[in-house]
Amino acid sequence: MSSTLPERRDFIRDMIANDLAEGVCTAPITRFPPEPNGYLHIGHAKSICLNFGLGQEYASIGGRCHLRFDDTNPSKEDQEYVNSIKEDIHWLGFDWGEHLYFASNMFDFFLSCAIALIEKGLAYVDEQSVEQIRAQRGNINTPGQESPFRQRSIEENLSRFEAMRKGEIPEGQAVLRAKIDMASSNMNMRDPILYRIMFAEHHNTGNTWCIYPMYDFAHPLEDAYEHITHSLCTLEFENHRPLYDWVIDNCPVPSRPHQTEFARLNLTYTVMSKRKLLQLVQEKRVNGWDDPRMPTVSGMRRRGYTPNAIRQFCQTIGITKFNGFTDVALLEHSVREDLNLNAPRRMAVLDPVKLVIDTLPENHLEWVEVTNNPERPEDGTRQVPMTREIWIERNDFMIDPPKKYFRLAPGRTVRLRGSYCVTCKDVITDENGNVVQIICEHIPGTIGANPPANIQCRAAIHWVSCQHAVSGEVRLYDRLFSVENPDAEENGFLSVLNPNSLNVISNVYFEPSLASVPPEFICQFERIGYFVADRRDHVPGQHIVFNRSVALKDSWAKKNKGK
Ligand code: ATP
Ligand code: MG
Repeated sequence: MSSTLPERRDFIRDMIANDLAEGVCTAPITRFPPEPNGYLHIGHAKSICLNFGLGQEYASIGGRCHLRFDDTNPSKEDQEYVNSIKEDIHWLGFDWGEHLYFASNMFDFFLSCAIALIEKGLAYVDEQSVEQIRAQRGNINTPGQESPFRQRSIEENLSRFEAMRKGEIPEGQAVLRAKIDMASSNMNMRDPILYRIMFAEHHNTGNTWCIYPMYDFAHPLEDAYEHITHSLCTLEFENHRPLYDWVIDNCPVPSRPHQTEFARLNLTYTVMSKRKLLQLVQEKRVNGWDDPRMPTVSGMRRRGYTPNAIRQFCQTIGITKFNGFTDVALLEHSVREDLNLNAPRRMAVLDPVKLVIDTLPENHLEWVEVTNNPERPEDGTRQVPMTREIWIERNDFMIDPPKKYFRLAPGRTVRLRGSYCVTCKDVITDENGNVVQIICEHIPGTIGANPPANIQCRAAIHWVSCQHAVSGEVRLYDRLFSVENPDAEENGFLSVLNPNSLNVISNVYFEPSLASVPPEFICQFERIGYFVADRRDHVPGQHIVFNRSVALKDSWAKKNKGK
């Protein structure tokens, strides 16, 4: 087998390999065609990894992937979305090079195709209302009715279409329709609308146009205009393909693209529709499009998910023809795998209680070497200050522990990660029995060495020097919805928002090295989870803010086991 063959295999890659072998094309040219009416989400990432991935795999023979903004509907589109989409694609690790296109730059081409269709007697201006047209469409069992405007002369159609274009006909009073077959068993072929009138300012073309093409007309033309060979879209468009081919067959196009459909990504505990994501943002259910709970690419970035983890996830789920749900735990698993390998370890105490090692002098300061990443010895060690008073996690101590509890308790010994083994001698509680201070003695000579054989030390816990700790905030994120399929909820997806999806802890103690890390620094807080310094709110040296990307283990799997 040739070594240039991509190692990934799926039906689309097989088809392309076949097309190349048969000389259908010399190199695959794909495109990613977002409408700039929202931020990209993980479903888009699947399409990006497929389209741009193919471009990369075939780059050596001239394959490539275009970024095309499908901006043919001025009412919902915005420059903010254009910018965020570009940023997200780059962040995911892909690049369109010189091949950036805007459908709105092809408006003249669409117009000439529409005129060509009219001249062939294949399109007509219908001056009924949209409601009337809809009423005549029929249904799967009943053929549609032909419009009274269907038999207009070519000349009349040309002049009425020109009147539409010039803004002489009010919005809603005329459309251009394809003349195909009102009795077709495919509803999309029942004289679909090609152009409509909209007096709206467009983010790119301003007020130049007051007629805008419909998706099913514009999309094949955009593909042909850019010489796309393989136009990959989701399965919902399967029964639009005859119309796609009709447009290509009947318009004066410079190339013949071919549409192929694959299954979209649906994730459990997630909504993916841009309309619903916009609603979450507008109703302030989340803090913007890049809220770390959002399934958007920018949200995942802010959450500390890595491009590598997302690409790995997309590769794992693969490309198929079957619609179904993917467990969001699989995405979290990809994130955990990537971070386990690559994230340096640091220490932070989220729920602190003071531990005093009274066998060390008051002013004791010792810098201990702590391993940065046991998965990557080449990442070395760092120095962490050890003092007489340290913070440990409240739940790493129990006054009256059960049998299997191996952490700290009166008389028990634990290892302080990278430092001494300490034995608990005493505990101070308040009037309610809450632990306020734990008194320990250290076992000299146990840094980097085992305690004497007669002492049992079965756990290592994390800690931070009280004197050197920097305090700050941690945001614990969880899934935004509390049910698997929020879209199926009778009372709407908003009725199943998880009330505990964000838990802010404002008095966390971090090891001092974390004071100066830049935004987007990712690490594992030992024994707690993976965290990222917040892109927006973390200010080194001033305001430490970390977001939890993912816990060390899947807590949802545990919760659901009992059911
Ligand atoms: P809308 O609901 O606004 O139509 P859309 O998700 O289709 O949203 P587009 O901007 O048109 O948004 O999508 C760009 C590309 O991403 C399309 O080619 C589409 O097929 C693909 N895409 C969108 N959602 C998914 C998904 N869940 N899985 C895979 N691909 C997707
Ligand atoms: Mg779409």
